[in-house]
Amino acid sequence: MDKPGLIIRSRRVVMPETVNPASVHIRDGIITALGEWDEVPEQTPLVDAGDAVVMPGLVDAHVHINEPGRTEWEGFTTATRGAAAGGVTTLVDMPLNSIPPTTTLDGFTAKLAAARGQCLIDIAFWGGVIPGNTHELKPLLNAGVRGFKCFLIHSGVDEFPHVTESNLLEAMPELAALGSVLLVHAEVPEPIENAALELEGNPQDYQTFLKSRPRASENEAVALMVRLCRETGARIHIVHHSSSDVLPLLRQARAEELPITVETCPHYLTFAAEEIPDGATYFKCCPPVRERENREKLWAALADGVIDMVVSDHSPCTPALKLTETGDFLQAWGGIAALQFSLPVMWTGSQARGFGLRELTRWMSEAPAKLAGLDKRKGRLALGYDADVVIWNPEREFKVAPENIHLRHKLTPYAGMNLRGVVEATYVRGTKVYGQGEFAANATGALLTE
Ligand SMILES: [Zn+2]
Repeated sequence: MDKPGLIIRSRRVVMPETVNPASVHIRDGIITALGEWDEVPEQTPLVDAGDAVVMPGLVDAHVHINEPGRTEWEGFTTATRGAAAGGVTTLVDMPLNSIPPTTTLDGFTAKLAAARGQCLIDIAFWGGVIPGNTHELKPLLNAGVRGFKCFLIHSGVDEFPHVTESNLLEAMPELAALGSVLLVHAEVPEPIENAALELEGNPQDYQTFLKSRPRASENEAVALMVRLCRETGARIHIVHHSSSDVLPLLRQARAEELPITVETCPHYLTFAAEEIPDGATYFKCCPPVRERENREKLWAALADGVIDMVVSDHSPCTPALKLTETGDFLQAWGGIAALQFSLPVMWTGSQARGFGLRELTRWMSEAPAKLAGLDKRKGRLALGYDADVVIWNPEREFKVAPENIHLRHKLTPYAGMNLRGVVEATYVRGTKVYGQGEFAANATGALLTE
């Protein structure tokens, strides 16, 4: 066999079943062997990571890049730099908030043109299901989207309208026939509309916002999707799950072997409604961060596999849209910006609850890669896989500071927090794209459309 072009080794390499001393042999961007720690042929370039963790790069299957059309909110260059600095080696872009949205083949073509030449890491794309675009689904899939997202409630932007049950009854059989997956923003309007009728309280008070997005909205939405999954056979994925009330139903759906997967996000696993300061609108997202008790139930559901994965739902906007001067939770844009910090946030929370590197890799690399249909090449350190690697120090701590944020905007609810886990270097297909605060000069990330 050809000699490897590069070897990365460490005393802690996270492989599919174990965490061991090992050497990762890489040639032409692919892992060609996982050798013993000291199995290093002479004159092979060696990155000796010492005791640092060597892990598959994170696959973040829920990112809003907003380019083209709302590039002032984020963009391919800044999003992928922030991702690389955070150990993310593949991300999947959401079909909305960019203009045009990825709901037509033309929209996808515009998105690919905007992304080309800008990405430091590999990128894949979700398409969108909106009322009346069923005929676009097959062409979008053939052009390389990994699946489709829909909303059951106003999405926040008018060019991406939400679907009703009758729209779904048209789109879902088509998705089932195509063997694709439907990602669902699971909140239905009625409980939220009812809550609005009797909503009282100061709009700067987080509790007022929390009351405006009741758990019932999520609970009913998930129940609807479980039923439609059973009826149509279409594969369903619940995005950014927050309400713990509906976990028993999801557990039951799992027992029934319905094709349903579930994600949650670092913010639902970190923050608690009781602790969010008045006017701190950078904590606003939909569905909302709920109570402490809810948070711990989400962790338990991750542990027992009812929730499959953790992805960022990085959804930034301009700081002005967060209305930090008035602190009005009801009017501010909803979305949390933190793509760069998923790994240390989750590691900090995992350690506090007794979870380890294997769980982290399963939740943040393996499961999201599988969701996006990339599990033959991404999400594992295994023979024949892309050499997407993050090297990080799990003992070191740092404080989240705006000057170290590489995303377009610096407003994040994690500012000032002490987190454990410092990313030292990130490799995408064997190329170092980030190391010690510096980025590779060339944007060699691939657009994954095959
Ligand atoms: Zn989102």
